[in-house]
Amino acid sequence: MNAAVEGRCVLCRALVQFETGVVPDDGSLRETLRCPRCGCIARQRAVAAMLLDMPARQRARTYLTEQASTLYVALRRRMPGLLGSEWAPSPWRRLRLSAWLWRHRALARVRHQDVTALHFADARLDVVASLDVLEHVPDYAAALREFARVLRPGGRLLLCVPFMPGHEGIETLARTDADGRLVHLQPPEYHGDPMGGGVLCWHRFGLGLLQALRDAGFREAEALPVQDPEAGLPQPVWVISALR
Ligand SMILES: [Zn+2]
Repeated sequence: MNAAVEGRCVLCRALVQFETGVVPDDGSLRETLRCPRCGCIARQRAVAAMLLDMPARQRARTYLTEQASTLYVALRRRMPGLLGSEWAPSPWRRLRLSAWLWRHRALARVRHQDVTALHFADARLDVVASLDVLEHVPDYAAALREFARVLRPGGRLLLCVPFMPGHEGIETLARTDADGRLVHLQPPEYHGDPMGGGVLCWHRFGLGLLQALRDAGFREAEALPVQDPEAGLPQPVWVISALR
C-alpha cells in the first residue's frame, strides 16, 4: 500500500501530502508518513508536536539525543538554541556527520555524547528529547538516570521507543557476559540507522519503562498516544513524557 495523508506539518507548518511509502506488516505508520518538505516521519513529528506545544520559556534549553538528522535540522529552525549530539567517538565519523548537517544548511558541528555519561552539568536543561535511542543502549537505566541528572526540577523528558503498552515489563533481547562478550537471549533484531548499517536492539519496552523512569528519579511518567489526523498523524504514536 502506498497512500498519502494530507495534513499540516507541525515542523514546517505547510499543508502537505505525507506519503506512507511501504507500510510494515504490523500496519504501524510510525516510521512512515514523511513530510515532503522537512523530511520528518510520524514519530519525529509526534515528539515535535509535544515539544512545540510547550511554552517557549519552558523549553529554552532543549537537548535532542541526535544531531545529523532531519528532526534536528527542522527543529533548529524553530528553536535556534537547540542542542544535539550523536554517538560518534571517531573524529572521522563526526566530520562525515557534520558535512551532512552543512549540506542541510545547519551550520553546527556534530558533538559526540554517550547518553550514559553526558557532558552537561546537573540540572542544566529544560527538556531532553530522545527518539528510538534507548532500545539500543545496553544499560538503559544508566541513560535514564543521566537524563534525570541533567534536567532541572520541573524539566521534562520526551522519549520515543518502540513501545508495547500491552506488555508489563521490559524484555531483554541481548546482554554482555562477564568477559564483555555479546550474548543474544532472543533472535537478534537490528534497526536501520539513517546513516547506514543496522543497530542492535537490546530491549523491548512495555509498561515497566514507566516504573524504570520513576526509579531513575522522575516524579511522574506517562505514556501518551499522540494522534492528530489534521497534522498527518492518523494513528497514535506512543510518546513517553516524564517530569523531573
Ligand atoms: Zn515538514
